[in-house]
Amino acid sequence: MGAMNEEIENLFGRIKKARHCVALTGAGVSTLSGIRDFRGKNGLYNDLDAEKIFDIDYFEEDPSFYYRAARSFIYDLDEKEPSVVHLVLAALEQRGLLKALITQNIDLLHQKGGSQRVIEVHGSPKVHYCLRCAGVRMGFDEAAAIVHSGALPRCPRCNRVLKPAITFFGESLPADALRDASDEAQNADLMLVLGTSLTVNPAASIPNYTLRNGGEVIIVNNMPTYLDSRAVQHFDDLGDVFEGLWDLLVDSE
Ligand SMILES: [Zn+2]
Repeated sequence: MGAMNEEIENLFGRIKKARHCVALTGAGVSTLSGIRDFRGKNGLYNDLDAEKIFDIDYFEEDPSFYYRAARSFIYDLDEKEPSVVHLVLAALEQRGLLKALITQNIDLLHQKGGSQRVIEVHGSPKVHYCLRCAGVRMGFDEAAAIVHSGALPRCPRCNRVLKPAITFFGESLPADALRDASDEAQNADLMLVLGTSLTVNPAASIPNYTLRNGGEVIIVNNMPTYLDSRAVQHFDDLGDVFEGLWDLLVDSE
């Protein structure tokens, strides 16, 4: 454990020294909270119907399928707790050591963990909207209560079932979030890449903005990524690293 602790102290030192530290998080961060990784070994995409859940054409045909299928991993947020990773990232932001958090996740656990500046590059269920009526919006809590009652959130004007602002297959990624993410990555002198294998865009390209501008990248992921050789530090186990960081944060108070 000694060498490991030294590496984590080294990591904490880099975070404290950084001018503009940004984190990029993927599904691996949420699996610690019991949310299934979409593409991992026990991933959602291994189920036969899983791709249909986030397919825009299928949603327009039968929106009830999404709400049935997504209920447990999106709308049961009360039953899920932020992991040590979510909590440490929120604590780092609070101390001014983390400037922004870019996430591929759509489970709202960073927000539940207390993070303020969360850039959701795959969209978010915090807003539900009508595909037909401009300006109709419903927040997550209201939509979740309706889903839990067994009904579907509907547009008050046209009665159509509302869609979460998650980016579905067949839709374009949210332009504002993408712009914010690339701005933050370019401005970062340190980027923490956490729980993502960097196999899909936009996540795959985001750390490159940091590297191109002379910033450093640190990777914590249980599978290899194409940027491992360019990382100044690399760890496999998110839980170990963030429990170590938690202890260092507590000690430094
Ligand atoms: Zn409507």
